[in-house]
Amino acid sequence: MIVAESIEKVRAQVAEWKRAGLRVGLVPTMGYLHEGHASLVRASVARCDRTVASVFVNPTQFGPGEDLEAYPRDFERDCALLEANGCDMVFHPSPETMYAPGFATYVEILSDMPKRLCGKTRPIHFRGVCTVVTKLFNIVTPDMAFFGQKDAQQLAIIRRMTRDLSMPVEIVGCPIVREPDGLAKSSRNAYLKGPERTAARVLSRAVALGQQRVREGERDASALLAAMKALIEAEPLARIDYVEAVDGVTMEPVTELTDGVLVAMAVYVGTARLLDNFTVGDNTPVCAQDASD
Ligand code: AMP
Repeated sequence: MIVAESIEKVRAQVAEWKRAGLRVGLVPTMGYLHEGHASLVRASVARCDRTVASVFVNPTQFGPGEDLEAYPRDFERDCALLEANGCDMVFHPSPETMYAPGFATYVEILSDMPKRLCGKTRPIHFRGVCTVVTKLFNIVTPDMAFFGQKDAQQLAIIRRMTRDLSMPVEIVGCPIVREPDGLAKSSRNAYLKGPERTAARVLSRAVALGQQRVREGERDASALLAAMKALIEAEPLARIDYVEAVDGVTMEPVTELTDGVLVAMAVYVGTARLLDNFTVGDNTPVCAQDASD
C-alpha cells in the first residue's frame, strides 16, 4: 500500500491509474479504524479498480470545546487494517497540507439541512465536513466515494452537496456495522469507561425497539419517539441530545412513519457522544438476540 502525505503524490498516482483506464474509489475517514471503516474499504475494492482511503482528523468540523485534541489516533494500526482489506493508497495529510495559511474558502449547504439533528449542537460541523470532502474529491478525483449509514445526516448532506455542485462522483452508502451486542462501531467508543460500555447498549436497544414498533404497525412518529426516549432515559449513564424522525433525504421533521423516514439519535454516555439510527422499511436487526426476540 502506498502511503501519501502530500497532495502531489496522490495526484501523480491517481493520474497514472486514470491513464490506465482504472476506476478509483475513495473512503474518507478520521482514522482509528474499525470494522465499520473496513466494510467501506471492501465495498470500494469490490466496485472499483483502485481504492484510496484518507486518514485525517479534520479540524474544521470540530467546534470549540469539542474533542479535536482527544480524538483517538493510531496511524500504524490504521495502515495494517487498510492494507489487509485491499486498500491501494492511504492519504494522510497534515492539517497544514489541507489548510494552508490564510485558508478562507468553505463549502456550505444554506438550507436547514445541516442545522437539523447533529447541527443543533454542532453548528459548524457540516460546513467543515462539506469543505474537507470537497477538497478530498478535488485531490483524489474518485469515480465513487463510500460513506457509512451510521452518520446518516452526513451521508444525506454529501449526496445533496454532490448533486447541487454537479460533482462527478457517485456516492455509495454502506450499512451500519455493529458490535456483537448491537452497539454501532465508532472510533469514539474508545471513550467509554467501565459501566459506560454496557450503558451504551441503550442506543441500539432503542433502535431495536423502534424497528419492532414499526413492524407492529406504529405510524405515529411522536408515539414512537416517546417510547424510544423513555427507554434511553431509564439508563442513568445516558443523556439524550436528540431522538428524531425526519425525511431521509431532506432531514425535515415528519409526523408519520412512512418508508424512507430516518429515525436518528445522538446520546451522550460519559464524555462520548454516540450516534445510531434506522430507516423505516429497513428491518436489519441490530444483533442476533434482537433478531430472535
Ligand atoms: P469517521 O472516521 O468516524 O469519520 O468515519 C469515516 C466513515 O466511516 C464515515 O463514512 C462513517 O459513516 C463510516 N463509519 C463509521 N462507523 C461506521 C460503522 N459502524 N458502520 C459503517 N460505517 C461506519
